[in-house]
Amino acid sequence: MEHRSVAIDGPAGAGKSTLARAMAQQLNFRYVDTGAIYRTVALGLYRTGQDVSKVLEQPQCLEEMDVHMDYDAEGLQHMYLNGEDVTTAIREHYISAITSQVAAHPNVRAFLLEVQRKQANLHDVVMDGRDIGTVVLPHADVKVYLTASPEERARRRYLELEQKGDTTPMEQILQDIIKRDEQDKNRPIAPLRQAEDAVVLDTTTLNQKESLDALVTLVRERLSL
Ligand code: C5P
Repeated sequence: MEHRSVAIDGPAGAGKSTLARAMAQQLNFRYVDTGAIYRTVALGLYRTGQDVSKVLEQPQCLEEMDVHMDYDAEGLQHMYLNGEDVTTAIREHYISAITSQVAAHPNVRAFLLEVQRKQANLHDVVMDGRDIGTVVLPHADVKVYLTASPEERARRRYLELEQKGDTTPMEQILQDIIKRDEQDKNRPIAPLRQAEDAVVLDTTTLNQKESLDALVTLVRERLSL
């Protein structure tokens, strides 16, 4: 059976995961957070205690790592690294920067391509990331490019981290977001960019409910749901 797919791409902190998860729940689709998969690989490489770029020069380093995902009863995606549930650990702020570096590596992208496509072959999916509409699911039924100004994205990320007790200052978060955007947009392989057939949704001036309503309306229309 052909499964339906919604691809959501955009820069860090645009609200992709929150909105994609909520929409997937409404549509009864599976939400696939591909950033979490990249984060898990990055954590695995970080834990080797060696320079990440050096480790990546050894192609077997990825084969030796057991990365897999699972869904709990609430439909929440859990990430496992060598059998350990690292769903929370991969959200640490320092992992974001390492992930962007790791995700630029061609071996890593090739390694994770099939993991992501497999989900879309088996389920109706809402998948979010950076290259979903351009590389992973170029034939997705609906493609959305979700964005917001860097300042607004930093503000949202700050509040999110603050709730978890992370006291990283706003100015640093903004600088990190700008740096991560640069890295993600300028890498030679699968850079972050809007697919030609993607609809742009800028949420700078929208609150969460307004953003979700706009997204769900768009997707329902396109999928005739
Ligand atoms: O979405 P999230 O912020 O968790 O992603 C972390 C990093 O993973 C991004 O900055 C990006 O470098 C990388 N990533 C990617 N391709 C994806 C998803 C995430 O390169 N499809």
